[in-house]
Amino acid sequence: HSLASPLYSVPDNLTIPQFLFDKNPLGFLRGAQSVDVSTTQPCMIDEISGRQITFSQAKSRSDALARALKSKYNLSENAIVSVFSPNHMDYPICIWATHRLGAIVSPMSASLTESELEYHLGLVKCTIMFVHHDCLPVASKAIRAAGQDGIRLVIIGNSDSGLVTVDQLAREGSSFPTYPERSMRAGEAREKVAFLSFSSGTTGMPKAVMISHFNVICNILQIATFHRTYDPSVPKELRRFKPGEVCTGVLPLYHIYGLVLNLHFVLFARMTLVVTERFDFERMLKGIEKYRISYLWIVPPQAILFCKHPAVQKANLSSVKYCLIAGAPATGDLFRQLLQVFPEIHLGQGYGLTESSPVISMFPLTQKVGTLGSAGQLVSGTTIKIVTSNGTLAKFDQEGELYVKGGQITLGYYQNAKATEETFIDGWLRTGDIAIMKPNGDIFIIDRLKELIKVKGLQVAPAELEGHLLDHPYIADVAVIGVPDEYSGELPRAYVVLHDEQAKEAKVSRQAEEEIRVHIFKHVADAKAKYKWLQGGIIFLDVIPKSPSGKILRRVLRGNAKGSGNVG
Ligand code: AMP
Repeated sequence: HSLASPLYSVPDNLTIPQFLFDKNPLGFLRGAQSVDVSTTQPCMIDEISGRQITFSQAKSRSDALARALKSKYNLSENAIVSVFSPNHMDYPICIWATHRLGAIVSPMSASLTESELEYHLGLVKCTIMFVHHDCLPVASKAIRAAGQDGIRLVIIGNSDSGLVTVDQLAREGSSFPTYPERSMRAGEAREKVAFLSFSSGTTGMPKAVMISHFNVICNILQIATFHRTYDPSVPKELRRFKPGEVCTGVLPLYHIYGLVLNLHFVLFARMTLVVTERFDFERMLKGIEKYRISYLWIVPPQAILFCKHPAVQKANLSSVKYCLIAGAPATGDLFRQLLQVFPEIHLGQGYGLTESSPVISMFPLTQKVGTLGSAGQLVSGTTIKIVTSNGTLAKFDQEGELYVKGGQITLGYYQNAKATEETFIDGWLRTGDIAIMKPNGDIFIIDRLKELIKVKGLQVAPAELEGHLLDHPYIADVAVIGVPDEYSGELPRAYVVLHDEQAKEAKVSRQAEEEIRVHIFKHVADAKAKYKWLQGGIIFLDVIPKSPSGKILRRVLRGNAKGSGNVG
């Protein structure tokens, strides 16, 4: 079935900061009351110091930074600027300054190791890197290894490195001439790249997804329209996303869920973001009390902490009204437990992908608590089809691969025509997820066809770990899959075929086998971000199950992981 939901016009001539700051963004919503809170309400609060900036201060700070980037570094149209930093109040400032000049932002995870960052820098050649002072050692080494010494570094936060900081540039910036504002013709924002965000898609290594200004603006308005945000006829108790509500900002801003939903949507709705540099659950509880946080934007493992962590008993969580769980599946059981902690809140799931900027579905207004296990219903202006394994269109209740169409579907993979063709097909995004739609519109994501592993909502690409493991002198062949884990959702597990010599050694004793295992674990731990470590185990096999064409039969391995299949 192909179902469309209506959406009225989305501006396609604006950059993201123009949309967010130069107009009253609520004016794009039918029936919206004009609320101007730009000078009175905090746009962001730093969780630890409590430092705040208003919307108008955020606008003028990013404008000043844009002036400096133009005057001092002549940052040009379509140049790529990377941000390599944990969450910080200046993170979005760097984004908006870059966008003001028509340049492109590539957000990179602060947990990347030197070799991972080197790979990312090879994919997107940036001219400026905004780097948090804590990330500077990794950045410097990766830049050298990538042979990109020309990258100019600007520090987020304080630093004794002698390098220029965002703060200095923003202070100096106001004395520089105004930059030539990047304004666009009607339609231009549809193709104009705003972000290059990383995702491995349905197969292979991480790739840079080209996300346009229009994609982000459209997704924001799709979510707002779907929720009838500011529609005066929505009963008070159903209303969501009111100006002045205070939101958690614990999701990493480099990830699409943090970037578009937690940051841009929240600020569009003129809510306030409490920016958290490093997630710490007990500090989050204190933050909820201190800032009277009413909206939680979290991933399943954080939801589990609310159910299991002893500190919750003593915390005052009475300000919480709403909780969205997304990024990975959340079970009905988890919902039931959460409702014990928060009996009165609006609670449900959202679903999406980096390739769809990201939101495809969210729990609707008609459900104060989303249907248990459901990923919600299609946000406005979104069309889907579900294709069964024999290529027919699924009926309600029938499972198949989910394809999605809408203004949020991104432009494709940067400089990778092959992967783009395989995933973006005649305007449809192939999600690689197996879904079911119910007659009432509820969508259930029941499995994943693609290789991707999700650990705490973060992407782990099996191909990346397999490539790295194959470099190890002991390893003849390898396959990596995700195995279920109560807390993290999934954990990466490697099935390894050893070279003859090590295979013989491993058979000598349990201890010899364990030593080889430790060695392999360390090989990954030394080179990869922690969430990619092989915490799902290392299993030795004589042969990796493969199809006649040489493709790894991951389903057979998953069967083995569940204890129901025979391998090799
Ligand atoms: P990312 O691009 O990192 O956001 O990863 C997107 C993938 O995460 C999707 O294709 C799904 O496999 C998974 N995902 C995200 N949200 C959900 C959800 N609510 N339920 C099930 N899977 C999800």
